[in-house]
Amino acid sequence: MPNSLTAIYPGSFDPPTKGHLDLIARGSRLVNHLIVAILKNTQKQALFALEERVEMLKELTAHLPNVEIASFDGLLVDYAARRGADTILRGIRDVSDYESELRMALLNRRMRPETETVFLMASAECSFLSSRMVKEIVMLGGDASAFVPEPVVRRIQAKFPTVTKR
Ligand code: ADP
Repeated sequence: MPNSLTAIYPGSFDPPTKGHLDLIARGSRLVNHLIVAILKNTQKQALFALEERVEMLKELTAHLPNVEIASFDGLLVDYAARRGADTILRGIRDVSDYESELRMALLNRRMRPETETVFLMASAECSFLSSRMVKEIVMLGGDASAFVPEPVVRRIQAKFPTVTKR
């Protein structure tokens, strides 16, 4: 194991949830440098622009000195090689995450054998939580403040003033 361990935590973070933040905080204690890398050009319909997600994550992780917020496009393994990171951090909430994450981890290792994917189990209070669920609640006019941190709530309210202030 290298003396200085850099890991990449990739994802869409659209928007960042309390589950993501829990994983970032726990992951940052395990490595020297944690790069939270937001995937550009995802085929998913984004609620927040990439720049907004970068800003939110920077604000939310400002108290964690070894966490960097970055973005990337193209293959994750190529980005990891460019950043000198052999470790990828991902979260597992349930069996369906396990199935898709296992495939992705094996594929990434096949493409770049140095790559190790490390999984953290979601905390019990976050294991049902996804960005997709938060988006659905917001679109339907519900209150997502139990699931996302305060700065994200404010941005959601700014984006959907009429739906969220009923
Ligand atoms: P992606 O589109 O890559 O799945 P996400 O932003 O949805 O991007 O998720 C990024 C990573 O964070 C994934 O590994 C996912 O399993 C993990 N994750 C998402 N929500 C939670 C949560 N509530 N608790 C723990 N890990 C989570």
